[in-house]
Amino acid sequence: MLNIAVDGTSASGKSTICEMLAKKLNILHLNTGALYRSYALYFILNNLPIKSPDDADKFFEKIHIKVSFESKKQINLLNDKDITTLLNNPHVAEYSSIISQNQKVRNKIKEIQLNLANNNDILIEGRDIGSEIIPNAKFKFFITASLEERARRRYIQLKEIDKNIKYEDILNSLKERDFKDMNRKISPLIIPNDAIIIDTTNKTIDEAVNLMYEIILKG
Ligand code: C5P
Repeated sequence: MLNIAVDGTSASGKSTICEMLAKKLNILHLNTGALYRSYALYFILNNLPIKSPDDADKFFEKIHIKVSFESKKQINLLNDKDITTLLNNPHVAEYSSIISQNQKVRNKIKEIQLNLANNNDILIEGRDIGSEIIPNAKFKFFITASLEERARRRYIQLKEIDKNIKYEDILNSLKERDFKDMNRKISPLIIPNDAIIIDTTNKTIDEAVNLMYEIILKG
């Protein structure tokens, strides 16, 4: 099976790049952030506040996350309901970043990822893919961009949904998420030794996709 691991910082263009690259290669694309977000959504839909990663333990047995693919498009299920369209919101992002520090949650999500990696040609995108999930992947990439550029991109994206959103708030929340992701005890975001770094600060999405595509074709 062809396994490609892509890690990187929030709002680096990672998801869009991965989606386009997987399409070009005609393989599946798994966005693992959506799995953590699916867990987080359970707490939001049920009005359960999350203050620490341990808060997820009590509800672990009640939360069933699944992923399916329809025409190669990822469908995220929470307790058998398609919640794919509910995941892209700052509140869900904030909760998912706390929940992702829960070891039981990570183990469960790892199981889903390994099952897919063992049975499909797939590009898996996340924070710990090259270091922890599929360390033997044939290709490993790490996508990033400067904090300011990432905040600018996310601002443009979120402005469509919420007209009152402020650039400064996005910059600060990205900074905070970077810090949490890089400094947590469990599976921190690191650049694997053997990963190829793709800095998208001064690259268009197409340029980044083509660069990665060429690297893969050369094998
Ligand atoms: O990538 P996305 O912003 O959707 O991820 C949401 C949160 O899930 C991140 O802030 C991170 O804490 C967590 N995450 C993770 N490991 C992954 C993917 C996401 O810890 N492989």
